[in-house]
Amino acid sequence: MNNTNEIVTPHQNPLGFSSAIKAWRARLGEERVCTEQQILSEIGRSCTSKDTLPLAVIFPETLEEVQSVVKLAQINNVPLYPISCGKNWGYGSASPSCANSVVVNLSRMNRIIEVNPELAYAVVEPGVTQQQLYDYLENNHIPLTFDVTGSTPHASLIGNLVERGSGPSRYADHFLNSTAFEVVLGNAKILRTGFESIPGAKTASIFKYGIGPTLDGLFTQSNFGIVTQATIWLMPKPMNFSVLLASFNSDRALIEAAGQLRKLKLSGCLPSAVHIANDLRIGSVLQNFPFGQTLDNRCLNSTERTNLQKKWNISEWNLLASLDGTSKQVRANASAIKDALKGFCKIQICSEKTLNILNKYRVLGRILGQRDLATKLSVLRLMKGVPSSSAVRGTYWRKRKIPENELDPVRDKCGVIWCSPIVPLTSRDLSKFLTTTRQIFADHKIDQNLGVTLLTERACCCTVGIVFDLEDPLESERANNCYHSLVKNLCELGYPPYRLSSNANTEIIYGKDNYFSDVCSAIKQVFDPHKIIAPGKYGIS
Ligand code: ADP
Repeated sequence: MNNTNEIVTPHQNPLGFSSAIKAWRARLGEERVCTEQQILSEIGRSCTSKDTLPLAVIFPETLEEVQSVVKLAQINNVPLYPISCGKNWGYGSASPSCANSVVVNLSRMNRIIEVNPELAYAVVEPGVTQQQLYDYLENNHIPLTFDVTGSTPHASLIGNLVERGSGPSRYADHFLNSTAFEVVLGNAKILRTGFESIPGAKTASIFKYGIGPTLDGLFTQSNFGIVTQATIWLMPKPMNFSVLLASFNSDRALIEAAGQLRKLKLSGCLPSAVHIANDLRIGSVLQNFPFGQTLDNRCLNSTERTNLQKKWNISEWNLLASLDGTSKQVRANASAIKDALKGFCKIQICSEKTLNILNKYRVLGRILGQRDLATKLSVLRLMKGVPSSSAVRGTYWRKRKIPENELDPVRDKCGVIWCSPIVPLTSRDLSKFLTTTRQIFADHKIDQNLGVTLLTERACCCTVGIVFDLEDPLESERANNCYHSLVKNLCELGYPPYRLSSNANTEIIYGKDNYFSDVCSAIKQVFDPHKIIAPGKYGIS
């Protein structure tokens, strides 16, 4: 494995490492401190072709154990890289932010500590997965749901929250809909945020700000501590639920509709996140690259893309959003949306009843080999909070074989790098973003896998997917060059990314002298003076 990460750390101390291993083994037991090379090389691998081999992986199971792990790391000067379930595919997976680190795998801290059906929240540990919370709510007949991401059902809730990830519903912004973090800081002290900091407060899980400065945000996209618990807000299962599907047949149609979409979001007629996926984003979930049937084996030309669209009955851009509330609210919003978007796109509103009927056919579709029906329906069910790994299939676009069993892009050497710029929700900006992005993809001969999510009223959170075959060195090189060119050009246009890989270089984004970076380093000094936690992550050292 290549240790390509170039962050220089003061931790290259083999003596410290072996005494830390001894001490962790004494504290956690042999079985929970792993130094087996094969396991380490699996953990160190990512889908981005930037791999970093850890020195060990350890599995604490309680808050006290995490605290001891950090204390011993401090004493022995060994950097730690916390992961919840390690499925951060396309942003570094479980691979550490710098060389010579020990991965702290929190997947065994997987208790659902509380679900409050009345006030609609769950208090969870970092190892709790999307599937686990879903099953818990279903099995206990709790009529609540939560925002589920398109990642695997085995991804954790806290891993996504601390990276400020998002999903499809009204609660799409995961950080916004969370509170009361419990954190083991790099100095091994325990910090509780919001009202969680006040012993006996009955308000910790229900009011985000607490009193005094709001500190939760410091523990997202940073490296100041290890989050060992958080509250996630839940939603009632919808009284009435409909899915809005709209298809735009060109970039131009989408760009022209930007103003109307913004008005709909600002006026509250479209309360859920709005996902707009291009043909290749959806096509790649439904099939892999048609190797041997194209003019250029590297990417599809426009005729081949039109064929893809026809084959799967999709458009250049495909919008997906959900509507829920009383039947009157759903009808009123649906009618406002139809009026606003008339002339820009084809609209379909699919009621829950229709979805249920279609769902019966889903099983039949699978038996008959109609993957498009089964997959499309899993995506629609995802919007209602049912975890699904359907979208993960998109990472296999450049693979010749797709496993029948559980998908695992790291195991199967799928290449995927996400570039995630924020673009203002205006026609002007969307047009600049699309022109630039499309040109860069064309220059690098890579298929343009694009998504635009209206997470808020004003911003498009774009996900530009660079999907490639990690086993092909030339393709991997083109993918990496494409990523760097995208980041550079989009930053120059004023559209920097909102999320980065664990080991990304941030200088191109912040520049060399930026007071923001200085302040982050100063905070690091307070919370983690020995620079134990994820050195270099988000450029903070
Ligand atoms: P998931 O469980 O969703 O697969 P990961 O475990 O891959 O998420 O983590 C995603 C990112 O968040 C990584 O950069 C990781 O270092 C960071 N992270 C995950 N869990 C924690 C945590 N409990 N505390 C601090 N950082 C975390």
